[in-house]
Amino acid sequence: MHHDVIVLGAGLAGLAAARDLAAAGTDVLVLEARDRVGGRVEQTRTPDGRTVQLGGEVVGRGHTAYLQLAEELGLKLVPSYVEEPGRISRATPEGCSAGDPPHWFGPGDAAEHQRLGAEFTALAASVDPDDPWSHPEAAALDRLSVAGWLRSRHASPAVVRLWDIGQLALAGGSYERISLLAALRKSAAVPGAGSGDYDYEDWEGLRLAEGSATLAEVMGRALEPRIRLGSPVAAVDVRPGRCSVRLATGEVVTAAAVVSALPVGPLRSVSVTGVSEARIASLHRQRQALAAKFAAVYDRPFWRAAGLNGLSEAEGVLGSTWPQSEGVLSALVPPERYGVLLGTPAHLRTPELLAEMAAVFGDEAHRPLACHLRLWGTDPWTQGYVTQWPPGEVTAVGPLHGTHEPPFYVCGSDQWVAGYMEGAVRTGRAAAEEALRRG
Ligand SMILES: Cc1cc2nc3c(=O)[nH]c(=O)nc-3n(C[C@H](O)[C@H](O)[C@H](O)COP(=O)(O)OP(=O)(O)OC[C@H]3O[C@@H](n4cnc5c(N)ncnc54)[C@H](O)[C@@H]3O)c2cc1C
Repeated sequence: MHHDVIVLGAGLAGLAAARDLAAAGTDVLVLEARDRVGGRVEQTRTPDGRTVQLGGEVVGRGHTAYLQLAEELGLKLVPSYVEEPGRISRATPEGCSAGDPPHWFGPGDAAEHQRLGAEFTALAASVDPDDPWSHPEAAALDRLSVAGWLRSRHASPAVVRLWDIGQLALAGGSYERISLLAALRKSAAVPGAGSGDYDYEDWEGLRLAEGSATLAEVMGRALEPRIRLGSPVAAVDVRPGRCSVRLATGEVVTAAAVVSALPVGPLRSVSVTGVSEARIASLHRQRQALAAKFAAVYDRPFWRAAGLNGLSEAEGVLGSTWPQSEGVLSALVPPERYGVLLGTPAHLRTPELLAEMAAVFGDEAHRPLACHLRLWGTDPWTQGYVTQWPPGEVTAVGPLHGTHEPPFYVCGSDQWVAGYMEGAVRTGRAAAEEALRRG
């Protein structure tokens, strides 16, 4: 069969691209390896009807492309965990504390933290998120890690630790191994009212009332006849006017153009010919933080009784927890701890993760109605969690990042500054727009 456009992957990026292409009258085929759509957004239901998000979950007021798409699809957004009353918890090997300042702070640390947040925000304003390479200090900013920059600005170890425990919570990789330029670029992409490296309202203040995976499910249903599930792509050959896509089964389908919406890990296993070596090198260079998500379903939000909001930042195997909905706690295992989780015998993983939650929120954490552990980092069709930029990598990946080589178009959250569902929707729609513009 010959098509106008073949889209590789039915995550949010591929679905958003295919939706716009189909709406413009294009004959589009979506090839998806898994037997479901959604990729890194996935949900399940509890017997009492609550949805549990196993992947992408919250968005922020700065996520304009996502918010626009949700509106077009008639999906309602509600405040996320940021509305939960109570204090944040922080858990480290030497103890646990609730509220600010954290238990390891000494005199002067809180003021230093504020000062560095303001400095970071000011520096981020000097970076163009679409073209960080044009910054006069691009190479130097990229070489430096965020933690290295903090120390160069005389941050105390206590302040560096607070910034890094926040990164463990996001599971994007320790600030000891994240490029300053990449972090500034991310911050500049969603400029908000807040000061510092990450404002929760801008990035995480909202969620879809019906569950974030509903966005993918709705698009998937509308595109149904055009999506082939269970169809892993093995090779793509790009030629003007006639691209061929070979499935793992050996079957070949052709199209005038191809939109790749694959995560960077699985894309490395797909043979792509007919595009420049520079593009392949840039795509293959990109990497992801490997993480796992854990969700524990309780009959009630028991943490509230202790004045806690369910949000925690931690230095255990879990890097964070937050309430995803009434009585459901989400948690992330950051890349630094992913190997520890894999090394834990499978039958001990859930009890040990619950024990970490109990150390913060009390014994009731040991008694969930259900638990879900999703090992995204070693899932063959994801091989990661969220895009990761170690020092030097913004320069090494270079300005081809997020660009196209018609008739080969590239999208997916990895092709935006910092991953996220916003990145998937934004780049998916942009790829469709570019493909339509080129005819
Ligand atoms: C645990 C977790 C929590 C997250 N939390 C948040 C959050 O709260 N907020 C937020 O904004 N973002 C979050 N994210 C990130 C967000 O979910 C992703 O960035 C986004 O959904 C990625 O969309 P995508 O379409 O780019 O890629 P994917 O969703 O990964 O889609 C790619 C698709 O390609 C398919 N595929 C792979 N290889 C092949 C192949 N060879 N042939 C055919 N198909 C293939 C995959 O099966 C998949 O369906 C989270 C992610 C995870 C894993």
